[in-house]
Parts: sequence; C-alpha cells; structure tokens
Amino acid sequence: MNELQSCFSPTYSDARKRFLNAAGALDATITSYAIDSQRSPSSLAIDVATLGPDDAPALVLTSAVHGIEGFFGSAVQLALLERFTSSPPIEGLRYVLVHGINPFGFDQLRRFTEDNVDLNRNFKTPPDPYRGVHSAYRQLDSLINPLSPPGGIDLFVPKALWYRWRLTPTAVQHAISCGQFEYPQGLFYGGSGPAESAQIVQRHCDQWIGKTDTIVHLDLHTALGPFATYKLLLCDATDADALDWYETTFGADSIEPAAGSDLDADRVAFEILGQFGSWMQHHFHDRDYRFMVAEFGTYSPFRVLKALRAENRGYHYGYKSDSQKQAIQGELLECFCPRSPQWRQQVLASALDVIDQATTALEADR
Ligand SMILES: [Zn+2]
Repeated sequence: MNELQSCFSPTYSDARKRFLNAAGALDATITSYAIDSQRSPSSLAIDVATLGPDDAPALVLTSAVHGIEGFFGSAVQLALLERFTSSPPIEGLRYVLVHGINPFGFDQLRRFTEDNVDLNRNFKTPPDPYRGVHSAYRQLDSLINPLSPPGGIDLFVPKALWYRWRLTPTAVQHAISCGQFEYPQGLFYGGSGPAESAQIVQRHCDQWIGKTDTIVHLDLHTALGPFATYKLLLCDATDADALDWYETTFGADSIEPAAGSDLDADRVAFEILGQFGSWMQHHFHDRDYRFMVAEFGTYSPFRVLKALRAENRGYHYGYKSDSQKQAIQGELLECFCPRSPQWRQQVLASALDVIDQATTALEADR
C-alpha cells in the first residue's frame, strides 16, 4: 500500500526528477522540451519517455494538461515505470509517457498556464476560431471572475445558490466549464491561439507515437466525479463499433460517451471546446486512435469551482499575505490531489488496472 502512495511527489521539480530517473534507469528514450517562464524559478519542461519499437501498438499516457492535476498523473506514470523494474514492459508494445504538459501550472499549483490558458480548451482544430463564450458564462462572469484579490466580503456562496447551482448543477457547470475565448483572465479560458505546450505537442507527436496504426491514449485528470472513483470520458462522437470496443475493454460502467446536448445530472462529462483528445484523434484520423480522458473524482464541483476562483483571483490580483496564498493554494491542491491515503491508494491502483486493460487490448490487436 505504502509503495504506491510513495509515487506522489511534493513538488513539480521532485516529480520531474523522479520521472527522468525512473525512465533513465529503464533505458527509455527521453526527450525534453523546455518551456520559458517569467514567473517560475524552476526549470520547466515537457519530458517524453518512450519504451519499445516505434512500429509497435502504442499506449500513450499524458499528465498535467491541467497543471496541478499533474501530481496525480505524474504519480501514475512513476508507478508504472517503477513496476517495470520488477515486471518488465510487454514486449512488442510501445509506451509513450508525456510528463508535465503544462509544467508551469504543475510547478505553480494552478490548473492553467502562465498565460491563464486552459490547455484542454486550447487544442482547436482548424478552421475552428479561438472565439466565443457560452451566453450563461457572460452572465456569470462577474460572479466567477471578480476583478479583485481574494478575501473581504464575498457573496459568492449565496449568489451561486441564487443561480440555482444546487438545482441544476450540471447545466451551470457546463456553461462555466465548457471553455470560453473572451475573458483572458477568466476561468476556463481557451486562449487566442495554440499555447506553447500545445505547439510542442502538435509539432512532435508524430515522432512520439511512431509508425503504428493502433494507439490507446489515456490522458490523466482529477477532480470530476465522486471521491476516488473514475470514469473514462470519450471526447468525440463514437460509432457503435468503437463504443463497443471501449466498453468491452474497460467495462461499460467506466465509459462515458462524449457529451452532447442531452446532459443530465448523472453524467460526469460535458461538451468541451478545443479538447486535446479531439485534436489528437483528428490529427491521427487515418489510424486507430483511441483516446480517453481518465477522470479520477475528488470533491464536489462546487468546492472545486470555489477553489479555482479564489486561486485565479490571487494569481491575477495578488494575495494579501503569504499565509492567505498558502491557504488558497493548499485548498486547490487538496481539490485536485487529496492528501487522504485512501484516495491516493485507490486512484493509483485503479489507474494501473485501467493501464493493464489497455495493454491487454493492444496485445490482442498485435
Ligand atoms: Zn483536468
């Protein structure tokens, strides 16, 4: 039990070092892509480790598309690499581990990039423009994005209740979280063009994936869904055959098809603009590219939104004190990577199970 939990690192720099050491010890091919930052003293990079031949069916694992969620994603990647020391990678498969896609957010304990971009809203497929906002987001803007530092009298909770958060939580969650392109300092901003991290992925993913026609990609995320449970979300409309493959491979209960307009309260997923997975599947449209957002639940959407809102205010307008900053960042970290040993044990064990299901399916496809 303790072994798995030890894969969680206290900082981005520690996580990065452990990932590089573990991959290096396995003689993985490692490539690092530096990310410049004015606001972080750390050395930031997207690190990619590959194992196995470049024409073999590939398992792709990506972490920290939402920076702070990298504490979990990196732990999954490290747990897999450490398991390889006792039980070697499956021969004839390729493993592609992309570590810290948003290293700034990972390092600085935020979901978004240095430029406030939500990377999972930033992968627009041409000719989709970087424009638009949900009409309800416009109405909620002043509530979720106040133009002031955190603290003081804050009527967020009663006002949010007034917006009937509790009565129609999924509809409000969708309006806020689906991505917007008009409020650069607001939550879930998709940017005005491809972010530096997105450009690196787009330029180099052909080389990472190799020549195979068969790819299963798990993009590791946290905070959506009930505590310590998980769902594998599909990001594009899927035909019946493909859906059958996902459900047979991972279990029908674990799969959530792409969200459309038929949102209901039981769903974890909602329609998102500019998704990483949509871009990857579009780019590799001539291959069998299976992509899932693996979401591991933590706390209620309301608590998570409240934490994101407070951190975003502090990031743009400053904190009143170091202790306020610590408290707000600590709550955000708790929302995206709970300290609970039970949570940490459960999510890593589940993630490794999902990886095993994926590699079993890839082996069968060889
Ligand atoms: Zn996420």
